[in-house]
This record gives sequence, structure tokens and C-alpha cells, in this order.
Amino acid sequence: MSSRIGFGYDSHRLVEGRRCIIGGVEIAHPRGLEGHSDADVLCHAIIDAVLGALGEGDIGQHFPDTDPTWKGADSVDLLKHVVELTGRKWLNVEWIDATIIAEAPKLAPHIEAMKNALARAGIPAERISIKAKTNEGMGFIGRGEGVAAYAVCLLSS
Ligand code: MG
Repeated sequence: MSSRIGFGYDSHRLVEGRRCIIGGVEIAHPRGLEGHSDADVLCHAIIDAVLGALGEGDIGQHFPDTDPTWKGADSVDLLKHVVELTGRKWLNVEWIDATIIAEAPKLAPHIEAMKNALARAGIPAERISIKAKTNEGMGFIGRGEGVAAYAVCLLSS
């Protein structure tokens, strides 16, 4: 058996007039994440973690934000594409561990729903760990200007 790890990071600006979609779950909030796709910051960090473990570059290379195909895309579908790449290399997603950092909205009540939503991409919910933190009022996250997420992925053959 061989194992590989990957790491991913993403951040998106919080703006008015956008739906707030994090981890495949739409959360009731006056502002949402700005981006070309649905701007699902958690999904994007996980996608980069999986691509990192595969040695297959990053999300921007696979789903360019200049390509109209991905405008408004459901990021769980993008994650599904990437999970399918692991299968083609005879690798399996063993574990995902992620942290979302947001001052608001409160994310803890949505974590189980996020795991179930991400499972649509082909990673069993019981292989996904998600934590939510605030930034203690500091920096761009603390001022409510944006949300960030970090993720690691373990692949095994
Ligand atoms: Mg992104």
C-alpha cells in the first residue's frame, strides 16, 4: 500500500446579493461568497488538497475561472470530477480533514449537513472531518470581509 497527502487552501470575499454556499450547503445569511462558480470555499480547499495528493496541479488549471462552463458551477460537481481522477490512478480518498474560518455565519450547526452534501462527490461522509472556527475578530476574516478554508487529504492505493 502507498499513501500520499495533499494540502489545500482557499478564501472568498463575502458580498451582498450572493447565496452563501459552504460545503455544498446553502446557509441563510445576508451575504454570500463571491466567485465565478458558486464560490464554495470549503469545496475548493478540498479540491486543491485532493489535486495536491494526486500531483495534478490546482483547481484553476482544471476549472479556469475564464471558462464559461464553470460559471455558477456547483462545486460539489467539481469535487466529483477530481475524486474520479483518484479512481483512475487506482487511489482512494482515505481521509479529508478541513477547517473553515468565518466570523459569521455560525457554521457548527451545518457541519453534518456539509459532510452529507460532500458525500455526493463520492467521498463517504464518515471519511470527512470538518471543523469551524472564527478568527477572534482579527484580520479580513475577523472584519467579516471573507471566509477561508484549509484542508488536507490522504490518498491510499
Ligand atoms: Mg475558490
